[in-house]
Amino acid sequence: MKKLILLAATAALASLNPTQAQEKKDYPQPEAMRPGMSEYWTPQPRVVTPGDIKQNTAPSDAIVLFDGDDLSAWMTPDGKPAEWTVKGGVMTVDKSKGDILTRQKFGSFQLHLEWRVPKDIEGESQSRGNSGVFLQDMYEVQILDCYKNETYVNGMTGSIYKQTPPMVNAMRAPGEWNVYDIIYTAPIFKEDGTYLYRPYVTVIQNGIVLQNHTEIQGTTEYIGFPRTVKHGEGPIRLQSHGDPSQPISFRNIWIRPL
Ligand code: MG
Repeated sequence: MKKLILLAATAALASLNPTQAQEKKDYPQPEAMRPGMSEYWTPQPRVVTPGDIKQNTAPSDAIVLFDGDDLSAWMTPDGKPAEWTVKGGVMTVDKSKGDILTRQKFGSFQLHLEWRVPKDIEGESQSRGNSGVFLQDMYEVQILDCYKNETYVNGMTGSIYKQTPPMVNAMRAPGEWNVYDIIYTAPIFKEDGTYLYRPYVTVIQNGIVLQNHTEIQGTTEYIGFPRTVKHGEGPIRLQSHGDPSQPISFRNIWIRPL
């Protein structure tokens, strides 16, 4: 009985102060950090020379799609030479000739293009300087004269057409050049043809963000909802829209595959 009481008393003491029973042990401490421990030097990113800001030229590693001289980088949907009008360093949509596409196909990329709506443009809503740039020939970023011209917001300039409106309206007035910088991440598909990762796009117009890493839902349909269509690399398509307003112009188009 005495022994039992003693055991119980010992256990009670140990539970009151459990650390007392543990042996104190010194473990090695992490080495003190020095700045150089979290800095690495290789591989160095390759050097790219930026375009000349006054002459508005492309970066040194860009693929130039239109530099003002000719349409050799472009073709019709059935592979014939593109026949839009080239004059004074500018190409202008010829609505009788239809859309044009780059001969080269691309995956993810950074695309720069400049576009201008004629100063004397007429029409309203979607019938006013309508064009568009199709990423991988599948997903349209809308081009439209939205300067003091309202339309459905998911069809405005800089919308992912019929999907996501732009965050703001960053239009310059007709007759002035608008600048698009588009950063696009191509989708990855599962074997069954559905998206594993959908495409994403960032759209900047005149230095102002319109789309910030926006998820693209699928094809940009005029009628109906986005569809999932499995595809690989694809061309850039510029739209020759059938609206009756005067045709828009493009210049200084270049792309950097990413
Ligand atoms: Mg369009």
